[in-house]
Amino acid sequence: MAYQENSEITKSFRSGCLCTSLVAALVLALLVASCASPCLAQEMAQGPAPRLASDPHVDSHVAEAIRQASADHIRQTIEKLVSFQNRSTISAQDDASIKAGKGIGAAREWIKAEFERYSKDCGGCLEVKTDTFTEQPADRIPKPTEITNVYAVLRGTDPKQANRIVLVTGHYDSRNSDTFNGTDPAPGANDDGSGTAVSLECARVLSKAVLNKVKFPATIIFLTVAGEEQGLNGSKHFAQMAKQQGWKLEAVLNNDIVGGDRSPQQDASVVRVFSEGLPAAASESEIRRIRMLGGESDSISRELARYIADVGRSYDAGVKPLLIFRLDRFLRGGDHYSFNQQGFAAVRFTEFREDYNHQHQNVRSENGIEYGDLPKFVDFDYVAHVARLNAATLASLASAPAPPATVRMLTKNLENDTTLTWEPSAGATAYEVIWRSTNAADWEYVQTVSSGTRATLKVSKDNVIFGVRAVDTGGHRSLPVAPEPER
Ligand SMILES: [Zn+2]
Repeated sequence: MAYQENSEITKSFRSGCLCTSLVAALVLALLVASCASPCLAQEMAQGPAPRLASDPHVDSHVAEAIRQASADHIRQTIEKLVSFQNRSTISAQDDASIKAGKGIGAAREWIKAEFERYSKDCGGCLEVKTDTFTEQPADRIPKPTEITNVYAVLRGTDPKQANRIVLVTGHYDSRNSDTFNGTDPAPGANDDGSGTAVSLECARVLSKAVLNKVKFPATIIFLTVAGEEQGLNGSKHFAQMAKQQGWKLEAVLNNDIVGGDRSPQQDASVVRVFSEGLPAAASESEIRRIRMLGGESDSISRELARYIADVGRSYDAGVKPLLIFRLDRFLRGGDHYSFNQQGFAAVRFTEFREDYNHQHQNVRSENGIEYGDLPKFVDFDYVAHVARLNAATLASLASAPAPPATVRMLTKNLENDTTLTWEPSAGATAYEVIWRSTNAADWEYVQTVSSGTRATLKVSKDNVIFGVRAVDTGGHRSLPVAPEPER
């Protein structure tokens, strides 16, 4: 609680000032004589005392939408994906195999048809698309291989904000013990049937919300990629496309192994959210700036992770995000990294405790141990909870104004106050300055700025980390933006 240690505002309150910004102008005028003058000056400049940043915010439409996520529907999705036998990127995708319901081609066609079915149910609200390319031979790609990402677009309703995009993804390819085996069972119920099911379920419930007249000003994309197990090929291609086409992609939620494996040590009350610290895409000069600022824990991916923590406090998803301040688990990687490499904010959701007998294994029994990624090890209620947390995050971000641009912290003079400036955001009616101690993991305090795009706080920039976010009349909060120092 560094604020209490450092803040001049707190000191003034401690010294017994009775002023409050809520009193009427007349009362305020009468109090001027009795109130210590620095106190009044501060309050007039500052507005009300800061609130705790952990205040939840609930949009009843979003709460209603996420309740529609169904464990039973998710079970059907995962069982269907498993029925394709082997969804390795190098498995069959010829017409006969698709017709026989075997291989990755059949999985791809089914996912596409599923998105199209949701779209039909919401009066055509989703645009269903594919992103197909040929991957040339590489370590885990023995011959030129066609890879297809399948996605659905829920276009934003505000023409000024529809170019803002938030995205959820999972990988629909699977593998068994042998990366080059495209025929024997590779059920991939958890890895990553669960993540694919989360993306599909988010599409289903949020498109249903739109049918019920809920509006999302920004665009939401529901993506399923292939090639993850062969080298993140699908996500790499998609992220490069987003970068080349100049997408305003604000957030990527990658769900990989969110099945809540039913091992005795599992903790089904949490889902891990991994986020990188130093951005993979940062240049040498940017790294230098981060070092000077002490900004190692304020990458855009980390701000996204904190946003998810905020959503977790606001909505009853049935599972709480457990933020892990690290790119990924040891010896493993995932599709969020492809987006990080292109400079996008991207995090990974993964169950609390993985069972390595149930991933990347041939289906078999040995010495009484069952191996293989089978549906019976998946906790479908847990996947539904993770889907709710994802859907609430997507809906919150897509309902919120754009994050403020060009956020600056003035550092021209040696002073104990902090002045922040920024540019107006589309859809914003106010802004919030948030801050925390340099050694705190999450935001601690928030102060509303109800007019203008500049704020001076009696808090020393030397002692805390600041962020600025935009809010609208409904209380929706944008992602926070860390300020850059300006001299
Ligand atoms: Zn995976």
